[in-house]
Amino acid sequence: MSETEIPLSKPDLSSVEEELVVRVLRSGRLSIGPMQEEFESHVAKVSGCRHAVAVSSGTAGLHLALLALGIGPGDEVITTPFSFIASANAILYVGAKPVFVDICPKTLNMDPGRIEQAVTPRTKAILAVETFGNPLYMDEYAAIAAKLEIPLVEDCCEALGTRYKGRPCGSFGRVGVFGFYPNKQITTGEGGMVVTDDDRVADCCRSLRNQGREPKGTGSPNTSNTGAWLSHPNLGYNYRLSELQAALGVAQMRRLGQLIQRRQEVATMYINRLLGAGDIVLPAVQPGVDPSWFVFVVRLSTQYGAEERDRIINGMRLHEVGCAPYFPCIHLQPPYRRLGYGPGSFPIAESVSHRTIALPFHPRLSARDVDLVCQTLELMLSREQFSRA
Ligand SMILES: *Cc1c(COP(=O)(O)O)cnc(C)c1O
Repeated sequence: MSETEIPLSKPDLSSVEEELVVRVLRSGRLSIGPMQEEFESHVAKVSGCRHAVAVSSGTAGLHLALLALGIGPGDEVITTPFSFIASANAILYVGAKPVFVDICPKTLNMDPGRIEQAVTPRTKAILAVETFGNPLYMDEYAAIAAKLEIPLVEDCCEALGTRYKGRPCGSFGRVGVFGFYPNKQITTGEGGMVVTDDDRVADCCRSLRNQGREPKGTGSPNTSNTGAWLSHPNLGYNYRLSELQAALGVAQMRRLGQLIQRRQEVATMYINRLLGAGDIVLPAVQPGVDPSWFVFVVRLSTQYGAEERDRIINGMRLHEVGCAPYFPCIHLQPPYRRLGYGPGSFPIAESVSHRTIALPFHPRLSARDVDLVCQTLELMLSREQFSRA
């Protein structure tokens, strides 16, 4: 990466993060401590849930959520083909089968009208994603899941701080999962959080993230309670988050309002700058949505295809503007093709995914950066229009 490059994303870290990480280092307590507890209570509050369980990644959180709901071999889980691959991978981890449902081209989320025809007697959950942070239909998915008497798992990894019809993302499903990779609204480097109102699900996740130990009061190998530390009633995992990561999380959560406000400002700058630009569709904020903005993804109009889109992305990268084709369809990746999915299985998701471009997006992007990105995009579009003419 050169000095002049505008990166696709970048974490916003301040002296608050530095101070809290140093405090953990000096305390000598590097795992299972007060930072984890404080981080969990911040995320529980923002997501409107009673419990929050910190884990090592969003992917680990999705894995634990499905295990806690008892989903396993022979079960089917309905989900979207247009997301980051982790949302469907978690279904494969537990030995269940992902059953994809095509998306709605306006919201890019799973089309609620197509869910019921995908239901079979084996359907055990709906795993819905707020794609690019858009919470649309979350209430409808919850209603469909309630009618089918199965749980809704909310993969809200892209939606921390977003509200829909006055309700925070994370509170729509029986379980919600956030991720804190460096491109998300807040980061811990790597990390995730399971949120729920269900005591049993929360306890199960607390046990499974910590090698299957009892969910509470096992302390650490250094405390007097070594008996509990060395007994493992469940087959668990090491999906813990370190205190250093939790300290980053606490600092980021204290700054959440400011971080989201900046994301909203940058998104508004893009929208104002690109409004009326030909051949591109801007992300639409639907009524009822108060967005925290995960990414800024534009879509080329339907006369473009993947070849033109990839040429535009490569051209922008040559001009040192970071962009990405978010997301290639999950069902076209090899582990899913083996299940019998292929090109044409989900035509709307495929058509959309051939035409999307994620533009540089983070809280510290300046008006000048935004203008440069848009100029470069317009240059690439004019080249395509010229070669077409
Ligand atoms: C980021 C993300 C995840 C989890 O990612 P991790 O890198 O494991 O934290 C899961 N689902 C979606 C939709 C995501 O965007």
